[in-house]
Amino acid sequence: MGAVSVFLFALLTAVATGLGAAPFAFAKHPTRRWLGASNAIAAGLMVAASFGLIYEGVNHGLFRTLAGALLGLAFIVLARRFLRQEEHPAVFASMSGLDARKALLIVGVMTVHSFTEGVGIGVSFGGSEALGLFISLALAVHNIPEGLAISLVLVPRGVGWGRAALWSVFSSLPQPLMAVPAFLFVEVFRELLPYGLGFAAGAMIWMIFSELVPDALEEASSNLVAVVVTLSVVAMVAFQILIR
Ligand SMILES: [Zn+2]
Repeated sequence: MGAVSVFLFALLTAVATGLGAAPFAFAKHPTRRWLGASNAIAAGLMVAASFGLIYEGVNHGLFRTLAGALLGLAFIVLARRFLRQEEHPAVFASMSGLDARKALLIVGVMTVHSFTEGVGIGVSFGGSEALGLFISLALAVHNIPEGLAISLVLVPRGVGWGRAALWSVFSSLPQPLMAVPAFLFVEVFRELLPYGLGFAAGAMIWMIFSELVPDALEEASSNLVAVVVTLSVVAMVAFQILIR
């Protein structure tokens, strides 16, 4: 299999992310009232997803995964400080102010974590064609709830479902972009993979507790938020095991 086919398979996994926005095609006028529950669902999906990344990384190297997680934490703390200091109010996807900053953070964090998944696709195609196809398919399915998590943050803040779908696909574009170099230079990227997986997990766990859970608690009771987070963690873990 050549680099072009690897690129196309990784591109298909990216497009699958857009399917996560599909439920919003049927809920035309979301209000801020369900922002609380939406953030809680997104938090639960991301808790399970980030631990999935850590366990995947640990299979390749414990120390490199943990070092990556610390780097991811440092990166996201600095990135947030930078966004706060920005003189002009953040404008993103036709939102402004606080909403735009939160939307930018979730799309940013999800985009960063896609880089390592692209490396994962490329490295597995480097292993064998069958493995590469399997990982691409698993990632395509895995991307759908991640597009859902992004849409759950964007749509209640006034972004249409079509644009939420496009931002979801955007967040996965690093997958085709990274799959090709990882496939061509598979040995180098195999070494770097655990750092990337840890990095993504560190940034995602920070994002959950700094942004999603506090937002959920503003709109809903702590009991409701905890119930919804728990249910979505359970659902996402079951989903991850089933697509393995
Ligand atoms: Zn992912």
